[in-house]
Amino acid sequence: MTHTSSSDCNSALIERARRCIPGGVNSPVRAFGAVGGTPPFITRAEGAFVWDAAGRRYTDYVGTWGPAILGHAHPAVLDAVCAAAKNGLSFGAPTEREIELAEESGRLMPSMEQVRLVSSGTEACMSAIRLARGATGRKLILKFEGCYHGHADALLVKAGSGLATFGQPTSAGVPPEVTQHTLTLPYNGVAQLEAAFAQHGADIACLIMEPIGGNMNFVRASVEFTRRARELCTQHGALLIYDEVMTGFRVALGGAQSVYARAIPGFVPDITVLGKVVGGGMPLAAFGGRRAVMEQLAPLGPVYQAGTLSGNPIATACGLATLREIQREGFHEQLAARTRRLVDGLKNEAARAGVPLSADCEGGLFGYFLLPELPRNYTEVARSDAQQFARLFHGLLARGIYTAPSLYEAGFVSAAHTDADIDATLEAAAQALRAL
Ligand SMILES: *Cc1c(COP(=O)(O)O)cnc(C)c1O
Repeated sequence: MTHTSSSDCNSALIERARRCIPGGVNSPVRAFGAVGGTPPFITRAEGAFVWDAAGRRYTDYVGTWGPAILGHAHPAVLDAVCAAAKNGLSFGAPTEREIELAEESGRLMPSMEQVRLVSSGTEACMSAIRLARGATGRKLILKFEGCYHGHADALLVKAGSGLATFGQPTSAGVPPEVTQHTLTLPYNGVAQLEAAFAQHGADIACLIMEPIGGNMNFVRASVEFTRRARELCTQHGALLIYDEVMTGFRVALGGAQSVYARAIPGFVPDITVLGKVVGGGMPLAAFGGRRAVMEQLAPLGPVYQAGTLSGNPIATACGLATLREIQREGFHEQLAARTRRLVDGLKNEAARAGVPLSADCEGGLFGYFLLPELPRNYTEVARSDAQQFARLFHGLLARGIYTAPSLYEAGFVSAAHTDADIDATLEAAAQALRAL
């Protein structure tokens, strides 16, 4: 079908969706609010590609926001899911696959001696924070501007003005009383972090961070910042929660914690949060940590946490099959090389087109900015030209390249993306960049 009929088809669907679903979508970024235009309605996905309602094919760098590390509809994963489904969809009772998934995650990330399974990253982060507060008997949580840890009330905060202020809610429906124990600091701000611990150290239950800020596009935590975060938590008896929902199993088999442990010998978080890849595309997330901390959870301890669909048998089958595939020899090396080829290619094409562009990647996660230098925190990311980003986004989309419709989102490469797919993307990017 032609491009015109494709957009007509999707336009009709978004109009119909808007009548019965708020904004036409079930998660806001899908509405294309930041870039304008009509979101393609996806009907099918396979390997590195998605198809829209008009049958138009796109090379996919969203990867369902991270889980599709093997590419879409991987045969081994589909087989595992179908086999599991035939034995029933949900039991609300213990199953052996829950043990296997906890054992497997703990083997790949040894900082997790015990693991609990839940159904979304939001739920995992919310539960990890409750656990940290319960285990320490303290109130304050420390987070960084631009890091996303799901949409629990206490986490929907922005930094106030000045040093180490308590956050203001960023969403209606969150009373300020609920965010008054959340301290928000700039990412990579070592001095501000030290000041916050100096002032509030005895009251801080936990510091929660993304090891690489993947919800402000792609912002790497410096080694020094990560080292100080670990030291200050230890020194003041606060727990370090490493939110690896996006980075876990994607930037390396052992997650971002294994990457930072190379630079900081012995580095481990106290609690790790997983989601996205660990569920392989089904609703599954997890949090885990030291036994003594995890045993504070009900039914052993006083910290309540529960879920009807937690450890769902189809989701665990999907996650386990995915974890098996990514442990094949050389999997992450090849994924990292493909992602590096894309990122280096983008920088070359931008230089040739005379467009200032910086880009970075780790494993199968990448980001690019229409900025001459890589930003180090949210404020610097926000200096990007949103209109120029929207023009580049639509230039790519029109050429069959599906990327995140917001300059605050990261990019995802899968094992199904071939060198030829990457090269075709770079050719499209060269044209889109020249058209800017
Ligand atoms: C996606 C994400 C979450 C939230 O996960 P959901 O499954 O969307 O609730 C939390 N933390 C990080 C770092 C994420 O990328």
